[in-house]
Amino acid sequence: MSVIEADSLRKAYGDVRAVDGLDLAVDRGEVYGFLGPNGAGKTTTIEILTGQLRPDGGRAAVLGTDPANEPVETRRRVGVLPEQQTPPSFLTPTEFFEFVGRVRGLDDETVAERVEEWSQRLGFAAKLDTLCADLSRGQQQKVMLTQVFVHEPDVVVIDEPLANLDPIVQEQVKRYLRSYAEDGNAVFLSTHNIDVAEDVCSRVGIVTNGRVVAERDVADTETDLLDAFLDAVEG
Ligand code: ATP
Repeated sequence: MSVIEADSLRKAYGDVRAVDGLDLAVDRGEVYGFLGPNGAGKTTTIEILTGQLRPDGGRAAVLGTDPANEPVETRRRVGVLPEQQTPPSFLTPTEFFEFVGRVRGLDDETVAERVEEWSQRLGFAAKLDTLCADLSRGQQQKVMLTQVFVHEPDVVVIDEPLANLDPIVQEQVKRYLRSYAEDGNAVFLSTHNIDVAEDVCSRVGIVTNGRVVAERDVADTETDLLDAFLDAVEG
């Protein structure tokens, strides 16, 4: 069974068909890139997969359950990074992770250990007790990435995870995402960036006009992702 599934998914805003018969399936071991131009329906699809929006039709499932009616135990196995979301300005990263840990059912000691590991990995350990309002945009993104993984989820749904990160940290995050999938987890990564998709994903779905119009294995050397993307967008 695939851990993320969408079958004939549909969602309209008035006359705009944001998601229009979208099918996809992501298995454990994969970093699946959801690649599409502006307005393709990526955010709307993510909002459905993370239970924030209900589809008008079709079916979405994450770990075998409807994301809009997920039991708490299932929700705790999923990590989410929404588009451009920042941590609460009035908390420090330490306070934010304590809060996230409690919501995720973790004890404070476990949270502290994992936060230490992640803050070292991403290089923001010195900022753990600074108000999030006073962090740079990139430091805020590091905090948001840490909250995705703090409860060691089986599946993550992440939107532009490398935005605002410097090149060294980008490489670390890419390496981590690949090894996390190799360990038997699944990553659903939305991006407009072909280089990111090529560097980090094992398979890419090209989305345009609310549906996945092509899928490519990145390891397939015959594949030129840019050509496939342009064909899909122009065709
Ligand atoms: P981007 O890469 O620019 O963030 P996207 O692929 O995430 O785009 P969506 O945000 O899902 O695309 O938007 C898909 C379509 O739905 C667009 O045509 C957009 O204008 C429309 N849309 C999205 N949200 C709303 C809304 N709340 N009300 C009306 N139309 C919307």
